[in-house]
Amino acid sequence: MNKVVIIGAGYTGMAATMGLVGRLKRRDDAHITIVNPQTRFTERLRLHQTASGQRLADLQIPDQLEGTGVDFVQGWVTAIDADAQTARIDDAHTLRYDTLIYALGSVADTETVPGVDEFAYTLNSAQDATLLADHLGRLTDGTVVVAGGGLTGIESAAEIAEQHPDLDVVLLSRQTPGSMMGDKARARLHAGLERLGVAVHAGVEIVKVMSDGVALDDGTVVHAQAVLWTTGVRVSPLAAAAGLEVDHRGRIITDESLRSVTHPNVYAVGDATAVRQGYGVMHGTCQSGIPSALQAASSIVRELKGKQPKRFRFGYIHQPVSLGRNDAVIQFTHADDSPGRFYLAGRMAVAYKETVSSSPWTTYRLLKALPALGAATSIPSTAERTEIAGVIRLSP
Ligand SMILES: Cc1cc2nc3c(=O)[nH]c(=O)nc-3n(C[C@H](O)[C@H](O)[C@H](O)COP(=O)(O)OP(=O)(O)OC[C@H]3O[C@@H](n4cnc5c(N)ncnc54)[C@H](O)[C@@H]3O)c2cc1C
Repeated sequence: MNKVVIIGAGYTGMAATMGLVGRLKRRDDAHITIVNPQTRFTERLRLHQTASGQRLADLQIPDQLEGTGVDFVQGWVTAIDADAQTARIDDAHTLRYDTLIYALGSVADTETVPGVDEFAYTLNSAQDATLLADHLGRLTDGTVVVAGGGLTGIESAAEIAEQHPDLDVVLLSRQTPGSMMGDKARARLHAGLERLGVAVHAGVEIVKVMSDGVALDDGTVVHAQAVLWTTGVRVSPLAAAAGLEVDHRGRIITDESLRSVTHPNVYAVGDATAVRQGYGVMHGTCQSGIPSALQAASSIVRELKGKQPKRFRFGYIHQPVSLGRNDAVIQFTHADDSPGRFYLAGRMAVAYKETVSSSPWTTYRLLKALPALGAATSIPSTAERTEIAGVIRLSP
């Protein structure tokens, strides 16, 4: 019996699990266990909604696993012994594995600037987002600083501004928010932020977070009643501590089939990995993470059948960003994530973004029922790209 242990039941851990469940239906030579600290699935794509006070659906992981034969273990993985092939849970007991799927994701990098850990809020978990929501709910006026102009920072600033019109929202960023988009999509993004009253300051460097605001490198202090930190991510130190080869950011380095280069019985998926493609190392997104997880599931089943795992190839298709509940901008991209010609904005973009955000959970349900879904290619074919382009009109 091959013991497959999956650590982390976020987007990719769940995708790998359901991919395996669908594919192993007629086999009895593998047993799957998944470990996660919470029973509730964290819809990370929607944590900015939680932070602004909205309630999300209560998606329970054990309910999703019902009838699959998968064991769910609630707990934190506190250590991995890659030689003994065990994962330690809550420093209390160990799980032995033949194959490990490492899907621990990433969290906001709160270690680089003093005061962040002590004074800033994060979107690292539903609990963290709820802490910010509770705090914002108590404020009647004042300023909220959102630090970081990446997609998470933009979405958070927009969402908070929309849900809390009495608060001033200031988005502070090193780079121009939307710098990875094309000119037209970026201009539309800024118009959307302006409409919501978000004050954007780009080209600034935050050097300290304090109880009453942030200090910039030019000596300016931006006073605020709340600071949300979204700049950059860091990964769990568990992989490095276990002796798996990692990159300078602690992400597991994999071969072309998503196996650790030092420990091939460890598949690494999602934000916690550094996967090289022709255009460079992939950055962490759900968009790329879920295909990586499905491919890992497929490869594990191939190995059970005595076959070689296949090479993982992935190309990006979009940069979706919500601007509150009534606006969004979707920049369609080339495979290397550089902006393409088309973008979508306004109502159609809202519908598109909502479909993207809710699709993972729907996908898991379908995977349980329709194993063939897991075989879906991770790179849109030329025909699919043309089809996508065909339904997109340039927004005014
Ligand atoms: C506000 C926001 C909006 C986003 N929007 C988009 C978007 O529109 N499109 C997109 O593609 N990406 C988006 N992302 C990025 C996306 O959420 C991540 O790339 C994705 O969640 C990565 O999936 P993952 O499975 O690797 O990690 P996660 O989904 O973070 O899952 C990791 C899981 O591991 C668990 N875990 C961590 N440590 C341990 C441990 N020691 N033991 C046991 N379990 C552990 C965690 O509790 C969690 O359940 C967004 C992110 C944020 C924060």
